[in-house]
Amino acid sequence: KDRGRNRSVLFESAMSLAQRDHSRIAQDLRYAITRNELALHYQPIVDLTTAEVIGVEALLRWQQQGHAERPPELFVPVAEKTGLIIPIGAWALREACRQGRRWHEVHPRLGDLSVAVNISGRQLMDHRFPGTVRQILEETGFPATSLVLEITESILVADAESAADRIRTLRDLGVRISIDDFGTGYSSLAHLRDLPVDIVKIDQSFALGGSAEVDAGLIEAILNLGYALGLDVVAEGIETPEQADRLRALGCPLGQGFYYCRPMPPTALEAYLATEATLTSSEPST
Ligand code: C2E
Ligand code: MG
Ligand code: MG
Ligand code: MG
Repeated sequence: KDRGRNRSVLFESAMSLAQRDHSRIAQDLRYAITRNELALHYQPIVDLTTAEVIGVEALLRWQQQGHAERPPELFVPVAEKTGLIIPIGAWALREACRQGRRWHEVHPRLGDLSVAVNISGRQLMDHRFPGTVRQILEETGFPATSLVLEITESILVADAESAADRIRTLRDLGVRISIDDFGTGYSSLAHLRDLPVDIVKIDQSFALGGSAEVDAGLIEAILNLGYALGLDVVAEGIETPEQADRLRALGCPLGQGFYYCRPMPPTALEAYLATEATLTSSEPST
């Protein structure tokens, strides 16, 4: 009984610590946009057979004066809870489209580079969201067909019917939809069949995971599913050449991970793309 009480005391203090953290982050986050503390880093998505970059994923970074960098896994949930994800998400979308447009112009070879932006559940279901997407596309001149919206599988499962409706509206604008972290959200086959999506991203736990044989079987199953439903498949979290080889051997067309490139600021990515361009566009000598 005594121990039980001690435990609940410990539990309470841990809770209040988490709550203090939460309200501190919420407070600071309120000023993050106006103080210019947010940035996007970009990670290439590559063709696994040619290593050619076909697109990038935009990932939010928060650099607050006098703080160690806070990872999105820490502050995105707070932004989501407080509703701050609405202005922050719109900022990220606008910034990514602006950057994408610039890349299309500056690098003729990257004229069809796609840019993927992560969308949270609250953002997706906000009634203003489709209007925001349309407005940002108009304003930035970024082609809708080059924009990919990444939505985690768990969000699509939570309220499948409204999510499917919303996705249809978004696809009518011409953008593509990607299911993020696939394999972790318990969606059913029927679900997936009825979801109007374009891309499936295999969760990184499959590339990194324990039993190679089991993972290979599961990856094959997801690849077959993608093939049957006419979806593109991207493997996330590729960290080693062995993982890349294994995925390629299984027939996975696209991938992303530290082995190819870490997420980096736009200028660093441009330098990477420039060397990559000379590598993949070099004609065989005659
Ligand atoms: P995600 O969308 O699944 O993004 C992939 C995450 O895996 C990124 O973490 C990326 O840096 C990391 N990653 C990439 N390659 C590798 C690898 O080879 N190994 C390992 N271990 N990790 C790799 P990051 O940037 O910390 O973002 C974490 C999550 O935060 C994202 O997962 C996404 O769910 C969320 N997030 C990031 N930016 C945004 C945003 O602008 N809006 C919203 N709503 N969520 C965001
Ligand atoms: Mg993502
Ligand atoms: Mg993911
Ligand atoms: Mg993730």
